[in-house]
Amino acid sequence: MSTRQPPKPRPDAAAGKITKASPARAKASAAKPGKRRAVKARSAAEIRALFERFRQHNPEPKGELESVNAYTLLVAVVLSAQATDVGVNKATRPLFAIADTPQKMVALGEDVVRDHVKSIGLFRTKAKNVIALSEQLIAEHGGEVPAEREALEKLPGVGRKTANVVLNMAFGQITHAVDTHVFRIANRLRIAPGKTPLAVEMGLEKAVPDEFGHHAHHWLILHGRYTCKAVKPLCGSCIVADLCDSADKRTG
Ligand code: SF4
Repeated sequence: MSTRQPPKPRPDAAAGKITKASPARAKASAAKPGKRRAVKARSAAEIRALFERFRQHNPEPKGELESVNAYTLLVAVVLSAQATDVGVNKATRPLFAIADTPQKMVALGEDVVRDHVKSIGLFRTKAKNVIALSEQLIAEHGGEVPAEREALEKLPGVGRKTANVVLNMAFGQITHAVDTHVFRIANRLRIAPGKTPLAVEMGLEKAVPDEFGHHAHHWLILHGRYTCKAVKPLCGSCIVADLCDSADKRTG
């Protein structure tokens, strides 16, 4: 997955600012000048209907970052910050063919790793982090990727979002990694309206029924990446168009 940071929320989507496409909300807001109304989350039944639709169309959604084990997944996610999955996969295919464990990565050395990932943004820092996190895995975790958030977030280059992806994909835990797509879709579809990635993540934790929890972030990422795009959502081919009341919905 791309781990681009979510953009600052559009006020209409996240904070309830009134838009021309939402006259009812505009009227409500006008009644209380200077006060922004929080966007109301959907009902539990409506959220269930959305995820049932996503599941019906794609029962087993897959992330698009390539990896062969928990360690290479961790490295791929660290490399994917500010980069596309396609670009990361191009760099990691030959890298993981020769280094699919922390021990092999450390043996390669930072210079070789840097050379492999030089097509990816921030490659110098990322190469440094890949070597440092590999050394830490060897020193503190017997060369294994830990299945605990706290331990993951202590690794160089690993933040909350990366930890969420690894916990979800490698260890089957229900976590919600909030990238730019998840942030936008959770707000647009009012699944978990929030002004920050953490607020959206907490909202998703509460709102997403457990049976959809494992796949939820992939459904939302894929929906955001390919259909409900930031600037021109493809509403004509959207599988949840009949359930969507977003001000960003395009009818033309
Ligand atoms: S109808 Fe349009 S705005 Fe609504 S979820 Fe679908 S693509 Fe996004």
